Amino acid sequence: MKTATQTETFLNYEKIEKLSRVESPSASRLAEVLEKAKDLKGLSTEEAAELLAIEDRDSINLLLETACIVKREIYGKRMVLFAPLYAGNHCTNNCLYCGFRAANKDIHRIKLNADQIRQDAESLIREGHKRVLLLSGESGHYPLSYTMDAIKAVYSADVKGARIRRVNVEIAPLDVEDFKTLKTANIGTYTCFQETYDRELYKIYHPTGKKSDYLYRLNVMHRAMEAGIDDVGVGVLFGLADYRYEVIALMEHAADLEAKFGCGPHTVSVPRLEPAPGSAISEKVPYPVSDDDFRKIVAVIRIAMPYTGIILSTRESEEIRNELFQYGVSQVSAGSRTTPGGYSLTGEEENKQFSLGDHRSLEEVIRDLTDGGFIPSFCTGCYRKGRVGNDFMDLAKPGLIKHFCMPNGLVSFAEYLSDFAPADLKKKGFDLIEKISEEAENDSVKEMIQDSVARVKAGERDIYL
Ligand code: SAM
Ligand code: SF4
Repeated sequence: MKTATQTETFLNYEKIEKLSRVESPSASRLAEVLEKAKDLKGLSTEEAAELLAIEDRDSINLLLETACIVKREIYGKRMVLFAPLYAGNHCTNNCLYCGFRAANKDIHRIKLNADQIRQDAESLIREGHKRVLLLSGESGHYPLSYTMDAIKAVYSADVKGARIRRVNVEIAPLDVEDFKTLKTANIGTYTCFQETYDRELYKIYHPTGKKSDYLYRLNVMHRAMEAGIDDVGVGVLFGLADYRYEVIALMEHAADLEAKFGCGPHTVSVPRLEPAPGSAISEKVPYPVSDDDFRKIVAVIRIAMPYTGIILSTRESEEIRNELFQYGVSQVSAGSRTTPGGYSLTGEEENKQFSLGDHRSLEEVIRDLTDGGFIPSFCTGCYRKGRVGNDFMDLAKPGLIKHFCMPNGLVSFAEYLSDFAPADLKKKGFDLIEKISEEAENDSVKEMIQDSVARVKAGERDIYL
């Protein structure tokens, strides 16, 4: 097995280039591919490439309908919620799109200490959060020992017994030995975006610093998985290159991980380039992705990689987020700040990484999800029960994950409602839980949900299957 120390590319760029230019399929071919997608077994890169080529409204609508079906079949109505926590914004890289890049002399650089990280985490806990994504720039200010202490600080945060239950990490790529150390910090998913898979464009956007090494970044997930990290999250920054090229390359990336490690990525993130302080290219996006193209991207990823979570951040507006929930997104950030100390320090707003499109609080996002019939979920059951990596995929593939996620999501929502929601939201939320539990596929699931919710109402916490 050629993995970690792999320093070459595993991508066939000619193939990706060719697939990113295929013609849009005929009506009968489109129907055939969409029919196959309904089997929930995913699609080949070639089939996904055909779907990415469609442009006419009717075909796009058929694609979106299929994505809705796949999403519902596998994930049910659950929507996982989390918040990013920025530990520091020093950075020695010069990514042209990012407010934290070294050349930006106009921002105040901040490095939170363990106590400040704990305070930020406690602010999130007070809002009702249970899952945090810890991020930082890449700099000597943030050696691995700093990240390890930062993770510990988040897990140590405690507000009357309420705690953060899962810390996912998005930091610069590590080597295998450091990933082995990171694993001991009890992290959830390790996430890192390739930004763009296009080698030439990558060079332009990352002119200096460690991140300018395309191959070191490309192979990061191979090193993480070789080190035993169970769940990895991939992504591209849409707007940097042709989106068809990017989605096809991302699928090839996932396929290579699956071939070598028996398991593809746990999540795919779909950030779009947003305005960032002092970044010219973020103001004039090189390859703009329209809302229509963005819907198509989410729908194609959902049906092509049905068991991989899709993460959407608060970069996007409330309107498009609400819509994309239907087509495939399964995890969203809410009430986010992209500034270190953004939840507990004041006056740091201008030091953000990029601007947000959705400024709603967690409570407002939960209200909207509830109105849309979604189950806002804070569940961390899979990872704490060891249903990660291959085990998660083995469960997810036959559709079983829904049977854990739905009850666990409902019970974690009941906990949120009991501890954090105002009276009107509490009523709405418990009504929704009652309605969804009535629709459970059999009496034992229904009883199990109702029993667990009653235990939550009586004061018990952290119940999961
Ligand atoms: N510094 C590490 C890195 O670059 O991998 C950790 C993550 S960085 C704080 C998080 C991500 O933010 C980057 O991977 C990039 O895709 C995204 N990002 C940077 N500038 C952005 C912008 N202007 N709009 C949207 N996303 C942006
Ligand atoms: Fe630094 Fe990451 Fe921003 Fe690049 S994207 S400048 S590596 S913080």
